[in-house]
Amino acid sequence: MTLRAPKGTDDILPPISATWRRLLRAWSAWTERYGYDLIITPLFEAVEVFSRGVGEFNELVEKQMYTFNDKGGRALALRPEGTASVVRSYLQAGAAGVWKVAYEGPMFRYERPQAGRRRQFHQLGVEYLGTDSPLADAEVIELGYRYLTDVKVPGLVVLVNSIGDRACRPAYLDALRSYLREHEAVLCEDSRRRMETNPMRVLDCKVCAPKLHDAPVPTDYLCDECERHFTSVKEQLDRLGVPYRPAPRLVRGLDYYTRTAFEYVATDLDAAQNAVGGGGRYDGLAETLGGKPVPGVGLALGLDRIVLAGAEPDGPELDVFVATATTERVRDVLTIVSQLRQEGWRADFDPDGRSLKSQFKQAARRNSRMVVILGDDLDTVTVRNMSTGEQRDVPTGEVTQWL
Ligand SMILES: [Zn+2]
Ligand SMILES: [Zn+2]
Repeated sequence: MTLRAPKGTDDILPPISATWRRLLRAWSAWTERYGYDLIITPLFEAVEVFSRGVGEFNELVEKQMYTFNDKGGRALALRPEGTASVVRSYLQAGAAGVWKVAYEGPMFRYERPQAGRRRQFHQLGVEYLGTDSPLADAEVIELGYRYLTDVKVPGLVVLVNSIGDRACRPAYLDALRSYLREHEAVLCEDSRRRMETNPMRVLDCKVCAPKLHDAPVPTDYLCDECERHFTSVKEQLDRLGVPYRPAPRLVRGLDYYTRTAFEYVATDLDAAQNAVGGGGRYDGLAETLGGKPVPGVGLALGLDRIVLAGAEPDGPELDVFVATATTERVRDVLTIVSQLRQEGWRADFDPDGRSLKSQFKQAARRNSRMVVILGDDLDTVTVRNMSTGEQRDVPTGEVTQWL
């Protein structure tokens, strides 16, 4: 067979897909706990939803977005991220006040494929719209931290910064530009081009950033309101017991980002790909999309990166595998499995009448906590705890109680 999945895409298969399922389930549970409703937006949008940003972003649009014209001649794009769609949806719905929504799904970017950087990748995200309270920023940062801790991402570190707002950022950008002009000689070609239009992106450049240790940082230029907001976010994180590191050089390249910027880093991973997610405040985005001003803060986590970082979410794949050494009883096996499933157990069996040994192998491969074995005796079954090896005979009718 010569047909293959497109370059930069992956089939998510067992056994890794079991980890994905647990990660998705945990995401659903955590976002519900924090009061975020589910939102599902289209996988494709009008190109303008993503291209309304300025300068640098159009480069991203042209080089990294999957854009196409449909049969009606509409210019569309596969979504490269989730936030713009959610804000577009808020405006389109005529919503007012607070919106707390959670999403998960594939995003698309035309990039050079490598580990942790795929052309189709899966993101988990929340957006908290309609408030500029620093408590919303703290809640969003905490939610990501609790989730990543729960699914056991090793070496997790939370980085937090403030990049100011429309009032104070121009002065910072001026200072940064004059600094960059003095250091132009050490900058790469991309950064030289960006330093006038989008100087903060230069601090993001993996090549240039290490040479710019003494560059001015946004927190030195915050206005009183931004300073108060940032202090309040940090105080609240302290109260919530969320450990974080101030990261004065953590920036966002787009104009509509304001104030809080944060990142979750799995420090055990290779440096280039160790960010498992991040987010920030984007009080200017709704206006960029042609709407009324709507403050908002959100986060996005990369599911592929979380898996790559070695997350180990809890939960066995199966509660119970029902086996039999007696071919004639395979139909009874399905009957019992069906009862177990209706009572809420994750249960499975082998329909092909393989040997008992092979059925135990399957149970082990599926990580089943228990195996129930049907013998010739219709009235009793044997229940084995797969982790302790403990085994006992119980009346057939009492299996579920025993489990
Ligand atoms: Zn550079
Ligand atoms: Zn400010």
